[in-house]
Amino acid sequence: MQKTRTLIIGLDGATFDLLEPWTRAGYLPVIAKLMDHGIHGPLCVWPNMNSAAAWSSLITGYNSGQHGIFDFGERPPQRGVNFRPITGADRKKDPFWRILSAAGEKVGVINVPISYPADPLNGFMLSGMDAPGINSHGFSYPPDLCDELRQQGIDYVIDVPNLSSLSRRSPLQVPWLVERMIDARCRTILYLMKTRPWNVLMAVFIASDRMQHYFWPRTQASFEDAAWEPIRKIYKKIDSFLRDVLALIDDNTTVLLVSDHGFGPALRGQFFLNRLFAQLGLLGYGHGTNQLKGKILKKLLPYSRQIIPHRLQHPLARAFPNLHGHALSETVFSGIDWSQTHVFAAFHGGSVTINLEGRQPEGIIPPKDYHSLRERIRGILLNLTDEKTGRPIILAVHRSEELYHGPWADKSGDLIIQWDYDALGDSLCYRFGERPIIVRPLKKTRFSDEWKGFHRPMGIFIAYGPHIKPGIRGEISIYDIAPTILYLQDHPVFQDMDGKVLIDIFKDEYVSRHPVRQIEPPDIKSHEPMQKLDEEERHKIEERLRGLGYIE
Ligand SMILES: [Zn+2]
Repeated sequence: MQKTRTLIIGLDGATFDLLEPWTRAGYLPVIAKLMDHGIHGPLCVWPNMNSAAAWSSLITGYNSGQHGIFDFGERPPQRGVNFRPITGADRKKDPFWRILSAAGEKVGVINVPISYPADPLNGFMLSGMDAPGINSHGFSYPPDLCDELRQQGIDYVIDVPNLSSLSRRSPLQVPWLVERMIDARCRTILYLMKTRPWNVLMAVFIASDRMQHYFWPRTQASFEDAAWEPIRKIYKKIDSFLRDVLALIDDNTTVLLVSDHGFGPALRGQFFLNRLFAQLGLLGYGHGTNQLKGKILKKLLPYSRQIIPHRLQHPLARAFPNLHGHALSETVFSGIDWSQTHVFAAFHGGSVTINLEGRQPEGIIPPKDYHSLRERIRGILLNLTDEKTGRPIILAVHRSEELYHGPWADKSGDLIIQWDYDALGDSLCYRFGERPIIVRPLKKTRFSDEWKGFHRPMGIFIAYGPHIKPGIRGEISIYDIAPTILYLQDHPVFQDMDGKVLIDIFKDEYVSRHPVRQIEPPDIKSHEPMQKLDEEERHKIEERLRGLGYIE
């Protein structure tokens, strides 16, 4: 019997909250077909909704404590530690494509976030958003792949640059640029599917995430409403691309549609934890040199980016190798006086870190006080309510060791927050004693205020193919995807993976002929020490992250 082929299409930020009404209304006939004739269910990406971490878990089958990726940058972001963007070279576990390529499979990988530099696969690969640019050394494998695409008239792009400021200055231009990016991606995928042999192919669309961040309707518009059209148009484009894909595959191919997280309206309360901590005396915004320096850097950085010609910026960055990184790590948490700071939250509010002596560069909390402080902060968080409704806005606050395990688990925050998105709004209210402390949006907007949509813990999973039992599935873990892909390709899974093969989605006769095989995890040849990005490359990645509003 012929071997199964597996095609994995990633839709960054896709949620059934949109797919269900739009497939029902007939906007997305191909996705509707995959859902009706295949199996689908919510994909739980908890505890980490950050795309860098979530895609890493999806392609490896391990939690962040095992693969080492928690965010787009190296933590912690304190003074004395330069911001360093992470790349695929930082991941401590092999993605499924390396394992299958080594086993002789023909593999293709296109635009998976955190996959730079491209692996020299038995097949082809185009890196994702952690690459400095398409002309950078190591962007593609084979190295001349982009030239070939150019010869085909395909103007390949990784992402839309400066989406954050563009959405403010000329919002009408954004959908056009995003659509152009999708068109290039679709043409690339279809061209490579037609011209290269493959057994396993994974390609990711990031356009869905980008449009949802900036165009999620503020009001509760019905899904038929024109307010949804900019986002709906993206899905319609992907739907018609999937029609072309289905025409190209044989009847031995299994198609998986997955996302790295869900989406919903951006509720700003989650971005205000550091301001709450400041009011409680647990975080200091300095009055001394730190704050001044932070303010100056904050003013100077965007200014210098605008007035210093681009061709001079790189030589400048090279001449002062640490300045840029320093400036970044200081402005992300600008004004924080670490000598007065007991605890701080990640900017997206997903986790809280104790400023622990010996661990944080400017830690002040002695290890003996760690546990009591952590429990105190936990109590505070669990007591937070919405100012208007008085409802608690946090469902649970987990100690990091309850969620992460592995040699890199201590890179997570100390407390991981499970927000109640049905109760959360644009404020934080802490009642203790007489006067409640209330944190509301500031007049002056930050980049997070430009976001109209933000990540949620439930992504999508759809599987369609000859061996799939049609139906509807309960919650699936993001850790289960990689082992399931290995199983589909008849490869054993590793005993210590956090995920398991989704055996119940397969037809019984397939399972009886293909028992799940488990083997000891390979002794991963200690990965090449982190491939050193030069200043210019680092700068380019930072510019992309800043353009998205992921860093200030
Ligand atoms: Zn996003």
